[in-house]
Amino acid sequence: MKILQEKILQDGIVLSNDVLKVDSFLNHQLDPFLMAEIGKEFASKVKSGKKITKILTIEASGIAAALMTGIELGVPVVFARKKKSITMSDQNYVAQVYSFTKQESSDITVSKRFITPEDHVYIIDDFLARGAASLGLASIVEQAGASLAGIGIIIEKAFQEGGNKLREAGYPVYSLVRIKSLKNGVAEFMEEEEN
Ligand code: 5GP
Repeated sequence: MKILQEKILQDGIVLSNDVLKVDSFLNHQLDPFLMAEIGKEFASKVKSGKKITKILTIEASGIAAALMTGIELGVPVVFARKKKSITMSDQNYVAQVYSFTKQESSDITVSKRFITPEDHVYIIDDFLARGAASLGLASIVEQAGASLAGIGIIIEKAFQEGGNKLREAGYPVYSLVRIKSLKNGVAEFMEEEEN
């Protein structure tokens, strides 16, 4: 997605060889026009024989793009919560997600009321690094007995193992940009045909 690549080059800050900071348009301040384009792109990229009935993301940074995709596809958007729910755990699907940036595991939860076996779910997330967040969301879809249409990622860091892990597990992955390297303080993208 060309405009997203340009935005990353213009406003993204490469913090290290592994970490890209995009808080001026995605992770703290949001660019609503870019989010609207991202929603259109996710909606047009997904190849699904069955009608998608729900978008699933994880709070907080996935919500904006998921919402825009939900508008495009005309379906509700559910976000997994990171804070422990005070309701009974048997009313929720729970998955454990290990965060390398925080070096800790945490539970993500989704109420059983919002994903059911009839659902065909499109997962959306902001970053794909080692794949733990996406695999946690996919586990929730599986626990619900729902089907998975695919996983839409705004920024895939293709030099980390998450993308391969998800593709090898058989999940269709739709990444809007794939970063080949963050070396020397510069984001380098995969060629279009490699996407
Ligand atoms: P994973 O579970 O795939 O290892 O990492 C995905 C999550 O980690 C994303 O939802 C995002 O919150 C965070 N993350 C991983 N790498 C980066 C990065 O380079 N920059 C930012 N801003 N977040 C990242």
